Amino acid sequence: MSKVVILGSGAAPGVPALANGFGDCDSHNPKNVRLRSGTYYEISGVKFLMDTSPDLRMQLLNNNIRCLDAVFYTHVHADHLHGIDDLREINRICAKPIDVFASPFNMGVIHQRFGYLLTDEQQVINPKYIAALSPHVFEYEKPFEFKGLKVTPTLLEGHNVEVSGYIFNDGEVVHIADFHHISDRSLSLIKKRPELLVMPLTTPKGSKFHAGLDDLIYYAKEMKAKRVIITHMAVECDYEKIKNSSPDNMEPAYDGMSLEW
Ligand SMILES: [Zn+2]
Ligand SMILES: [Zn+2]
Repeated sequence: MSKVVILGSGAAPGVPALANGFGDCDSHNPKNVRLRSGTYYEISGVKFLMDTSPDLRMQLLNNNIRCLDAVFYTHVHADHLHGIDDLREINRICAKPIDVFASPFNMGVIHQRFGYLLTDEQQVINPKYIAALSPHVFEYEKPFEFKGLKVTPTLLEGHNVEVSGYIFNDGEVVHIADFHHISDRSLSLIKKRPELLVMPLTTPKGSKFHAGLDDLIYYAKEMKAKRVIITHMAVECDYEKIKNSSPDNMEPAYDGMSLEW
């Protein structure tokens, strides 16, 4: 059995946002209340996070997540990274290091900003508290195995910083983070019909650095994804409106949304 939980379905400002409140979202629909971007997966028995948003503490509390094997990073924008310090509480609970994966560029930035967390040496603070995130860098398009999970990282295009997408088990799950377009090369790495495709929207029309809903529909068709979850939505994305504008196999995420297959 595999599982996904959407921990946070919002874009960088969250919803409501400090500047724009609920914007175009219906404030009476609880599905429009969104923490910043984060996803939890269990695939091939491996429990992992995709990114650590600044809301990570609340996300882990809300969804009763206490143990993790790994974290995969998509990019170093604050809404995807800056909750990394909360992982030390997971270290404390599980008394073991957490394996952290990123591209060489992204790991370099993580090291600059949060070097005190990254170590190959386990810091035994007391026998029950081993504080350590063990860093691993990968090469794009070079599949690797982690505890029986096959991971193929791929470079996404057109965002304003480098972004890594992830293909798990040859395409069983495809996780796309902030992007403007996806290369044919990336698409060719998906070897089977995805059971699940997770994609970020931000705003329905898209912008210079973000794809819009039409682009998401296009790529979901290209990948022949069975089921698609749209996440990373800003105040312009009302839950019901996005749902009504999406094909049957696509649906907007909400915080705490969970699927098993
Ligand atoms: Zn983002
Ligand atoms: Zn971003």
